[in-house]
Amino acid sequence: MAPRHQAPRGTRDVLPDETRRWRWAESRALGVLERYGYAEIRTPMFEDYELFARTAGESSDVVQKEMYRFTDLGERELALRPEFTAGVLRAYLEHGLGGRARVHRLWSAGPVFRYGRPQKGRWRQFSQLNCELVGSPAPGADVEMITLFVDLYEAWGFRDLTVLVNSVGQPATRRAYGEALRGWLAPVRTELSEDSRQRLEVNPLRVLDTKDEGDHALMRKLPKMPRMIETLDAEDRAHWDDVLAGLAAAGIRAEVDDGLVRGLDYYTRTAFEVHDRSLGGQSALGGGGRYDGLVEMLGGPPTPGVGFAIGLDRVLLSLEERGLETPAPETVCVVAMDATRATATSLVRELRREFTVEYDVEARGFGAQMKAAGKSGARFLVLLGEEEGARGEVALKDSKTGTQQTLRRDALAGALRTRMAPTGEPR
Ligand code: AMP
Repeated sequence: MAPRHQAPRGTRDVLPDETRRWRWAESRALGVLERYGYAEIRTPMFEDYELFARTAGESSDVVQKEMYRFTDLGERELALRPEFTAGVLRAYLEHGLGGRARVHRLWSAGPVFRYGRPQKGRWRQFSQLNCELVGSPAPGADVEMITLFVDLYEAWGFRDLTVLVNSVGQPATRRAYGEALRGWLAPVRTELSEDSRQRLEVNPLRVLDTKDEGDHALMRKLPKMPRMIETLDAEDRAHWDDVLAGLAAAGIRAEVDDGLVRGLDYYTRTAFEVHDRSLGGQSALGGGGRYDGLVEMLGGPPTPGVGFAIGLDRVLLSLEERGLETPAPETVCVVAMDATRATATSLVRELRREFTVEYDVEARGFGAQMKAAGKSGARFLVLLGEEEGARGEVALKDSKTGTQQTLRRDALAGALRTRMAPTGEPR
């Protein structure tokens, strides 16, 4: 019989064999975040619709087409978060964090929601790992952010990713650059996709962000694109030069990409992204940038900041395609007889304080337990036979070395500890 319900379009169930990989990726990331001195902040999964509409920019895809917007039973206009930054900064202002310390380093992780067209690497509910460094205008803050960004990917085992960087200037320079782009695109205006023609009217920079291959082909045929870097004022230019020098000093491989504009309106100065081209169309694994005007947009005092979001689903997808395996712990299987079942129950509880232990809760016969142990791939078998049980002993079988020994029960944990391989690094 066909099941009556399926997960909604664009959402996925993460089944037990996959959740282990997620946990591994999350714990690797957590280690890096702690070493960089970032603290976790948790904000609601939904906020006032206006918060996102105001910050993302009315012309952005996220606001125009992708927001999960709804009215609750109390007639409030709300939206499921399409990203973290707006909510984190709303919380920063609401709780006066700016008054407690000059600089805050914050991270969050969890689901975000965008009503896009589902395809490989693009879902309607997906997970982001988000980091913000709020309070510092210094180029060093941008450098720390990009270094943290890269170190997270390295902790997951990526080695060959290149970070794309650009400076998107200030709103005024962006407007001037937008005009230059309009002029540049004028000869092909009527041939562009409907979407890009609209973007050209409202926000010409967005045309560079188009997913339409035809548009990209047209742009490739045009003479040299005007460069944003050339429209920057002296201060933005000095900031940009310092960021590039800082990245070089940190040993970060960054490539300047003149076309990198990012999808949200609030970015100022530095913008960056990282891609895995082998994923095909949806290749961005993460991105971020500086947002010096954002807190003011929310009614707060001038507060500079820089941040990024990493798409964890795509990271996991990419790791899987690269065949990077996450280490599984070595397990112990305890096999008991009827006469030793009570001893086994207490032994299993004791061992589970330290080891991953399998035990048959159905009190099946010896043969069935041995068969299950073979199937599960447990490295160690602890056999509690009647005679050994009576003597306070156990038999320990190590399937890796093929050896078997009889030990006193209180020596078992020590023997397991010395034989276990340390885990942690990806294979
Ligand atoms: P953005 O703020 O749009 O740059 O998103 C940050 C990261 O989230 C991207 O680089 C992607 O890795 C990921 N991402 C964005 N949209 C989706 C989606 N619909 N499904 C899965 N991952 C996504």
